[in-house]
Amino acid sequence: MSTKLEQAVDSRRTFAIISHPDAGKTTITEQLLLFGGAIRQAGTVKGKKTGNFAKSDWMEIEKQRGISVTSSVMQFDYDDKRVNILDTPGHEDFSEDTYRTLMAVDAAVMVVDTAKGIEAQTKKLFQVCRMRGIPIFTFMNKLDRDGREPLDLLAELEEVLEIESYPMNWPIGMGKGLEGLYDVYHKRVELHRPEKYGEERFIPLNDEGDIPADHPLHQDNVYTQAMEDVELLTEAGNEFSEEKIASGKLTPVFFGSALTNFGVQTFLETFLQFAPKPSEHKTMAEETVSPYEEEFSGFVFKIQANMNPAHRDRIAFIRVCSGTFERGMDVTLERTGKKFKLSNSTQFMADSRETVEEAVAGDIIGLYDTGNYQIGDTIYSGKMKVAYEELPQFTPELFMKVTAKNVMKQKSFHKGMEQLVQEGAIQLYKTILTEDYIIGAVGQLQFEVFQHRMLNEYNTEVILTPMGTKTARWIDPEDLDERMSSSRNILVKDRFDQPLFLFENRFAMNWFADKYPDVELKALL
Ligand code: GDP
Repeated sequence: MSTKLEQAVDSRRTFAIISHPDAGKTTITEQLLLFGGAIRQAGTVKGKKTGNFAKSDWMEIEKQRGISVTSSVMQFDYDDKRVNILDTPGHEDFSEDTYRTLMAVDAAVMVVDTAKGIEAQTKKLFQVCRMRGIPIFTFMNKLDRDGREPLDLLAELEEVLEIESYPMNWPIGMGKGLEGLYDVYHKRVELHRPEKYGEERFIPLNDEGDIPADHPLHQDNVYTQAMEDVELLTEAGNEFSEEKIASGKLTPVFFGSALTNFGVQTFLETFLQFAPKPSEHKTMAEETVSPYEEEFSGFVFKIQANMNPAHRDRIAFIRVCSGTFERGMDVTLERTGKKFKLSNSTQFMADSRETVEEAVAGDIIGLYDTGNYQIGDTIYSGKMKVAYEELPQFTPELFMKVTAKNVMKQKSFHKGMEQLVQEGAIQLYKTILTEDYIIGAVGQLQFEVFQHRMLNEYNTEVILTPMGTKTARWIDPEDLDERMSSSRNILVKDRFDQPLFLFENRFAMNWFADKYPDVELKALL
């Protein structure tokens, strides 16, 4: 007999959906929420589409641009599972928070537009998931439109992402000619328009893996083509392996159309079957903590500021790793040893805030923060004394010089810089000789948020001078030689005083590598 805590943990499925903008992440998220009964009407996730935006109390900048700056959490129950979807901003202005969110999930769903294949942002997010070794499930979307050959798409997965793939189902036709899915895993054909052939949605396959010979679809060219593809895959494709799925070495591939809600439920049900339940988490001391451990513990993976401008509050998002979180419980913040009571917790649903009473491993809680937390902080109850592994830093690609407009405001300028850097909102660098401030980000939006917050929270107008895209590479402090610095490779130090170069481009980096073959150039993630 498992305990109540064990049962609760085992029912959790916590994942993020990763994709390039416009692949259909929002649309599929809405379908999933509809299945889970978390929303009643499509179009409620992204306010820009329905004009619902005024309802939300996110920061000003979000309202102006009509996008979600930071990720939120959606929770619903399906069958006997409690599902947590962590949203990752899909706009091209994504930020380090997007990456960090992937540190808090147990699996990822990669949505690919079948007409476009693997796009830039998908690739970046995929690399972070791969680094964590979490299972990745692929949803090939927009099957209701003419896209690329399915075999081509699988080949691209293997070539570009270097991951093995296993199609769980296979399209029968595409675009206007879409007839259904040959469901390899469930041994059935799922019809796109069941009404065309009578009302049955599923046709079971016989022992030969075929539909009955007298079924009208049997004569259709698209069916013959799909069968040929499936045969080819059975002979030459990868084998299904639960172990490889669990370690992120093989991605199960599902085809479908989020917009017409075709194949989404099959995907959801199969995904929930194979997606992992919360497992143990690594600590700084290289030990692990079981999710069934009685004491509560978790780590901060994201801090979102000014969700409600009237209160100027910040929310620290915490991934629960063990025990049961309860409202009003006493916890210790590991970094400072400070003890306090967690009285105000909020949990985020698609478009409303609800107070959480209880949460277990796999769940995400949002705590009101008045400046106590930093990214990567651990909190725990009782005498656990755990510190979870540090979150990785990501190599910024965009850089700006930053100065305070008013020299009289130096004090608040430095205070704001320090706070926002600590929070992980932006990366700070200083030039070696003159200590000029340079900030780095993975997305343009981080700069805008930074500028906005410096003004609103620290009353400091900052001047940002774009430096464009740079390739950042760290070097060993022992290799440091100021004469190596030039306008094409600017030598700076990070906030831990570690030296790095900001190369104008890859060409400049290669040139440098040729000139100084003994200097090792290291990237973060
Ligand atoms: P996101 O940027 O990844 O969140 O993408 P959205 O969900 O906002 O979708 C981008 C566009 O693609 C919207 O116009 C959607 O209506 C459309 N779209 C999403 N899924 C499908 C699909 O399955 N078929 C078709 N034809 N369009 C889709």
